[in-house]
Amino acid sequence: METINFIELSVVVPCYNEEVTLPLFYRETVKVLASLADAGTISTVEFIFVDDGSTDHTLLAIKNLAEQDSRVRYVSFSRNFGKESAMLAGLQRASGRYIVTMDADLQDPPALIPSMLAAVASGEFDCAGTRRVTREGEPPVRSFLARKFYRIMANLSDIEVVDGARDFRLMNRPYIDSLLSLHERNRFSKGILPWIGFKTKWFEYENINRVAGETKWSFWKLFLYSIDGIIAFSSKPLALASILGAVFFLLSIVFIIIVAVRRIIWGDPVAGWASTVCIIMFCSGIQLFSTGILGQYLAKTYTEVKQRPHYIIREQK
Ligand code: UDP
Ligand code: MG
Repeated sequence: METINFIELSVVVPCYNEEVTLPLFYRETVKVLASLADAGTISTVEFIFVDDGSTDHTLLAIKNLAEQDSRVRYVSFSRNFGKESAMLAGLQRASGRYIVTMDADLQDPPALIPSMLAAVASGEFDCAGTRRVTREGEPPVRSFLARKFYRIMANLSDIEVVDGARDFRLMNRPYIDSLLSLHERNRFSKGILPWIGFKTKWFEYENINRVAGETKWSFWKLFLYSIDGIIAFSSKPLALASILGAVFFLLSIVFIIIVAVRRIIWGDPVAGWASTVCIIMFCSGIQLFSTGILGQYLAKTYTEVKQRPHYIIREQK
């Protein structure tokens, strides 16, 4: 028997310290959804807010919304588990035929939802993704490093990570179900989504600054996130370690031959302990570097093997 989806559209919103932006977000989004209902496109909607262990009154703000609007559901984590986990929790609970994930800070314009929905509902696409074409309002160093990261990622992995792709996406059921069928702990969605495939239509827009509050991504957090992404989607760094090892092994054989020949022809001039020390330091540096790469993969394997849950829920509705 075919199951009937009562909810047509689920709106999933990860929230971390968004007490100020949340009511603004809700007001804007509800307007757009109302216009969709007026046009007869969709009428049944649900909101799923995921409070990612906020330390301000975000949960209270969500509860206020839930009191006014029965379409609002929420999950609140026991601590901050990160945006990827928050989105996962929201997607797992969303029952809609279509699901849209959005940031709470209005950097993702709700006005795009109708055209995104039209693209996916037409059946031609399974996902409507968004990418920002400018990075205005962002520190130049950050933009520069972000671009470098996309270049490195393109060279290292077989999947295509889209530059500037945002987490503002509208997806259909088969797409979401495939996404949820991946159980890995290290959820680098910029990599997971191209990996599962399907047809994505891209919508582009200029960067919009958040309405209030500030970004939760420190420079360091972004850096670690990019390392996670590389480790999760490429094993080429491991190959790099092996190649370095092989190259240095060959070089050492050449040196041994040179030294032996010199010894036979000119005798043994004892000279240059400085150069010896340099070589030893250089080689042990390479060795530590390679062990470090290996360690990264081992650490990731360790967290995967432990099979801890992605998040812990404190309360939900
Ligand atoms: N977010 C989250 N958990 C975190 C960090 C961020 O749920 O640990 C949410 C945040 O509330 C917002 C979205 O993820 O709705 C994007 O965060 P932010 O605006 O800080 O990132 P940026 O837009 O600067 O990339
Ligand atoms: Mg933002």
